[in-house]
Amino acid sequence: MTSRADNFYAAWRERCRAVNVLRDGGSTPPEKLLQAVWQHQRLQRDRLKTTDGRSLRVLHPGFISVAGGPDFRGAVLQFGEEKPVAGDVEVDLQSGGWRAHGHDKNPHFKNVILHVVWETAKPNTAVPAVLALKSFLDAPVVELALALQNESGLPESLRGKCSAPLRELSPAQLTELLRAAARIRFQTKAAALLARAKHAGWEQTLWENLFRALGYKNNVWPMLNLAERKSAWQRGVQSVFEIQARLLGVSGLLPDDLTRAQKSSDTFLRRAWDLWWRDRDEWEGCRQPRAAWKLHGLRPANHPQRRLALVAHWLASENLIAKIEAWGLAIAGRAGNPPAGGGAHGVTRHASPRLVESLHEIFRVEHDEFWSWHWTFKSARLPQPQPLLGAARTTDLAVNVVLPWLWVRAREGGNEKLQAEIERRFLAWPAAEDNAVLKLARQRLLGTSRRRVLKGAAAQQGLMQIIRDFCEHTNAVCADCRFPELVQCLKSEAPSQPAASFGL
Ligand code: SF4
Repeated sequence: MTSRADNFYAAWRERCRAVNVLRDGGSTPPEKLLQAVWQHQRLQRDRLKTTDGRSLRVLHPGFISVAGGPDFRGAVLQFGEEKPVAGDVEVDLQSGGWRAHGHDKNPHFKNVILHVVWETAKPNTAVPAVLALKSFLDAPVVELALALQNESGLPESLRGKCSAPLRELSPAQLTELLRAAARIRFQTKAAALLARAKHAGWEQTLWENLFRALGYKNNVWPMLNLAERKSAWQRGVQSVFEIQARLLGVSGLLPDDLTRAQKSSDTFLRRAWDLWWRDRDEWEGCRQPRAAWKLHGLRPANHPQRRLALVAHWLASENLIAKIEAWGLAIAGRAGNPPAGGGAHGVTRHASPRLVESLHEIFRVEHDEFWSWHWTFKSARLPQPQPLLGAARTTDLAVNVVLPWLWVRAREGGNEKLQAEIERRFLAWPAAEDNAVLKLARQRLLGTSRRRVLKGAAAQQGLMQIIRDFCEHTNAVCADCRFPELVQCLKSEAPSQPAASFGL
């Protein structure tokens, strides 16, 4: 995506071997990469087949285990037309690893329902099912290595060895560094969107990623599964309430029982069940088990039932994608050609002086009869109506989904002016909500817990990229990390770009 010549940060990554560049057709990828491919489902998910010929639907890939035993715990899978099952997933390079590593005799592996391997030399009858990833990747293995190598948990530490040299940088130099790292992160997201769009189309890819983003970190996969089957379960429903009832039904999140305590909730549930009981046999194949959702510890405002209510409004309005396209074109005004695949909705360009607010207007829902007044089915009616989507969540959607989607479409359409303008907007976008990752990173790298040190979303994104490229390749004492010395080199150079509009 980025040439080494125009981004010094890309050259740093390669020089430090932060990126494990593989060549297609070369040696077997490392097991860590296979785990990342599985965890992030960088697969042609609608084509998956086990080695015994059964279709495989991944309702949830499971949570990566840090306590030994199988690599992923609690995956939810559907084999052929069988009922979905929950269990563990083990990742090995070869199917022979199952016996070679002693998994067949280890009781901790008795709940393994899928053995994920790179390729299989001969059938493995010791486990219920085997999936060979090699034929189902959604992008070349080199691209996946670049995109996924650093996708793992953060080390637990406080201040790192780079903290001192980073604090010696001028504001302009720190801005330039974070901006360069942020561009890498942005383009990696764009590459994943492009890979999916080649299989599913631009519009479907956008829907899938909007759903994913609304799943937060715990419910990404069930939200994605719903999006992937949207064309099926959306048939025959039009009104917001009909879509809400259908979504609650197919998601497995429609409660079986009335609350017997909240009258307005029970009225809603009766109406929803009136619709769903007639539909449920027809949509049984799309239905997810409730176990696919992780609901424990969620804030009520983030409950997936509430997010599905929001999605129902977007779907009922029918023109969300067209509005996003029009918003994207407004970014550059008369920037030239429409983006790749553009014009399908017949929208015209318009200029808007308040793009951040105007994107929130597109996603915002004016009013929902039930969900504006309730966090969940069990909660009492709120004294004041609450929005289904806050402004901070719009920033997450913009930075992680909408802007990369528009950018890569502009690039594929050869519209360099629009592409550059979208990137400029990304770099100037206001900061997203703070989170635990950023809090630790600020302390460890920048030596401060002050939130305001990162005033823009791109600064946050750049810091997260540095964590993934450097911190996650060493240990808590920063052994052999070359980032501090690279920062020292940058310190002695003049910044190549002004720091204007970045907010630091
Ligand atoms: S591992 Fe490297 S980048 Fe991370 S805190 Fe330590 S010195 Fe800084």
